[in-house]
Amino acid sequence: MAPDVSIARPTVLTGPSGVGKGTLVARLRERHPELWLSISATTRAPRSGEVNGIHYFFHSQERFNELVQSGGLLEWAEFAGNCYGTPRQPIDERIGNGIPVLLEIELEGARQVRRSLPEAFQIFVAPPSFKELEQRIRCRGTEEEEAIQRRLRRAQDEMAAQEEFDAVIVNDDLESALAELEQLMRLHVS
Ligand code: ADP
Ligand code: 5GP
Repeated sequence: MAPDVSIARPTVLTGPSGVGKGTLVARLRERHPELWLSISATTRAPRSGEVNGIHYFFHSQERFNELVQSGGLLEWAEFAGNCYGTPRQPIDERIGNGIPVLLEIELEGARQVRRSLPEAFQIFVAPPSFKELEQRIRCRGTEEEEAIQRRLRRAQDEMAAQEEFDAVIVNDDLESALAELEQLMRLHVS
């Protein structure tokens, strides 16, 4: 039987780089294809295998600035030397049509969304330990050492802010974290 999404409250997922947000979101979407994941705009260069319009909209800094100036982003922030933002119109459309929306964004963006989309449920994904976080980010092998260091420094601030969130999930065992996420989002597999 098809999975059933019982409520359409927007959900924001935040957590330090390397904690497993992308992995959790990918699993969640396999199990709940009705969920719509916002595709962010970014000035970061694509990683190997990343596709424009699927993983991100990859923009020049100039184009990103235009989006900011024209009010095209619901929120935006700088993270580890690049800009990231959530296109406003696709979100508004999905919410207007009652489609459940998922945003995977960093801390400053989540803070902005608390003002612009106060009905959103905000979940913080934490690692079992800082050492494990560092191991995961290194094992992923997508960043140079300098970028890893920036992300780990940023992770300290993000970890300190977890109490601001509606709920915290510790991503230790992936299956348990996924089950917790489904429960918090009130997603049912029938
Ligand atoms: P993020 O999107 O938060 O930056 P990723 O989803 O890219 O993080 O995960 C970072 C790395 O950690 C990946 O190599 C992923 O396979 C691994 N990972 C994710 N969740 C777990 C987990 N629960 N246990 C062990 N490794 C994990
Ligand atoms: P990455 O470069 O690893 O894909 O993403 C770096 C960080 O940017 C992650 O914490 C991710 O959640 C965040 N991010 C991705 N898209 C957005 C966005 O649209 N807005 C904000 N504020 N952060 C984002």
